Amino acid sequence: MRVAVIGGGISGLSSAFLIKKGLKDVEVDVFEAGDSPGGTIKTVQKDGYTLEFGPNGFLSGKRSTLEIARLCQANGYLVEASEDAEKRYVLKNGKLVPLPDSPVSFFKSSLLSLKGKIEIMKEPFVKPLNDDYEETVGEFGQRRLGKEAVDYLLDPMVSGVFAGSVDRLSLKQCFPRIWQLEREYGSLVKAMFKLKSKKASPSGRLTSFKQGMEYLIKSLVNKGDFCVHTGKKVSHVEKRGKRFLLNTSKEEYRAVVFAVPSYAYMDIAFPLKERVIEGLMSIKYPPMAVICLSLESKIDVAGGFGFLIPSIEKRRILGALYSSNIFPNRAPDNRILATVMMGGDNNGWIMDFKEEELMLVAIEELSEILSIKKKYIEPVAMRKIRRAIPQYYKGHGKIVESLEELSRQIKGLFFTGNAFYGIGINDCTARAFSLADSVIDFLKGNHA
Ligand SMILES: Cc1cc2nc3c(=O)[nH]c(=O)nc-3n(C[C@H](O)[C@H](O)[C@H](O)COP(=O)(O)OP(=O)(O)OC[C@H]3O[C@@H](n4cnc5c(N)ncnc54)[C@H](O)[C@@H]3O)c2cc1C
Repeated sequence: MRVAVIGGGISGLSSAFLIKKGLKDVEVDVFEAGDSPGGTIKTVQKDGYTLEFGPNGFLSGKRSTLEIARLCQANGYLVEASEDAEKRYVLKNGKLVPLPDSPVSFFKSSLLSLKGKIEIMKEPFVKPLNDDYEETVGEFGQRRLGKEAVDYLLDPMVSGVFAGSVDRLSLKQCFPRIWQLEREYGSLVKAMFKLKSKKASPSGRLTSFKQGMEYLIKSLVNKGDFCVHTGKKVSHVEKRGKRFLLNTSKEEYRAVVFAVPSYAYMDIAFPLKERVIEGLMSIKYPPMAVICLSLESKIDVAGGFGFLIPSIEKRRILGALYSSNIFPNRAPDNRILATVMMGGDNNGWIMDFKEEELMLVAIEELSEILSIKKKYIEPVAMRKIRRAIPQYYKGHGKIVESLEELSRQIKGLFFTGNAFYGIGINDCTARAFSLADSVIDFLKGNHA
């Protein structure tokens, strides 16, 4: 019995790993279009720097990635973000202001004006939304917390996670936990106090691997008992009786797991494609540039995790992470590695710029924001990503429902990937656990 997984990113590889682990007598083939597995996860070692061109890490509060790391024996190499990285900054009127992390620091902070703080304090008295209207993150924030909170708290958060726009992303789809807290507790402030008293710690610490995030990919491939076929772009999936045939293989498959970005479905023929393709093509992936810069360690960069820039500040970068402050061994001893992010849903213009030009823009912006001369900032490397992170706009839930309906109709077809079940590494690995259970149930004939 064979299963095909299409796409060798973290979604496809962790699904393949768990399917094989749960059912020993199944053969699993992963088909990856690129020349190496990993998809968005890309770590490069260069001149003593460990550079991340995709995710920097995952939060340890959700257990799914930690569990995958344990199963593929990568857990001995886990590293947690330093305590200093708890400090985060937001740019306001050209100055970096610490992000408040407690009620006391919130009241003292200059990030919001007195008026903005009063708006937030009124939050427990705002009635929860009861109808089915799907709000954007911005609409939700404006209704419950006021405009300043949207501009200086939610906008940078959305930019840091999705490189997205508060005016377009759906709150329910992108931040389901926040959406649910309003329904459960009637207020975010009330929820915060209730959860604190229950000592619930939902997020945890940012975590990676000593060698960088790609170590997880290598461990999955090396320790998993499945076959990864690179340079194999699937363009055709056909059902014949109870079996599936793929253009990339002579084998017959009992089940097929799609783990590709939503735009990739356009180039793949599969059963009942016409029912879902319009929705899939409507998911936007804005471009991003990840630019790695090096500074002398004696330069005062305020430290911490780094900073995010609200759109209202009208800068040309989204923010920067001080990667070498966050994790050990990311830069040579006397250097700071800063990873600058550009692009996203509000900044499609980056596609019109050449890589060298974007590098210069990043250096210029960093030097202005940190008030240091440009000559102290050295380029290390960069990567321009044409289609970076899928944006979950209003109506995204319907696209996922239509795929799930297709999966019920064409028995043996399964779907995963960051376009549907959350964009975080934790979301991709959590989905892998539930998907592997469904595939195994199907193969054992236990499905409904
Ligand atoms: C710059 C950046 C920073 C990020 N930072 C973080 C972070 O710090 N923390 C975090 O949790 N998340 C982060 N993310 C998000 C996270 O990295 C991704 O959501 C996740 O890696 C997606 O994994 P995936 O397997 O679903 O998709 P992908 O990684 O896109 O993998 C899909 C794979 O399918 C392959 N493929 C496509 N078409 C075909 C075909 N026809 N046949 C065969 N193969 C095909 C592709 O080549 C690719 O390898 C970041 C994303 C970006 C872009």
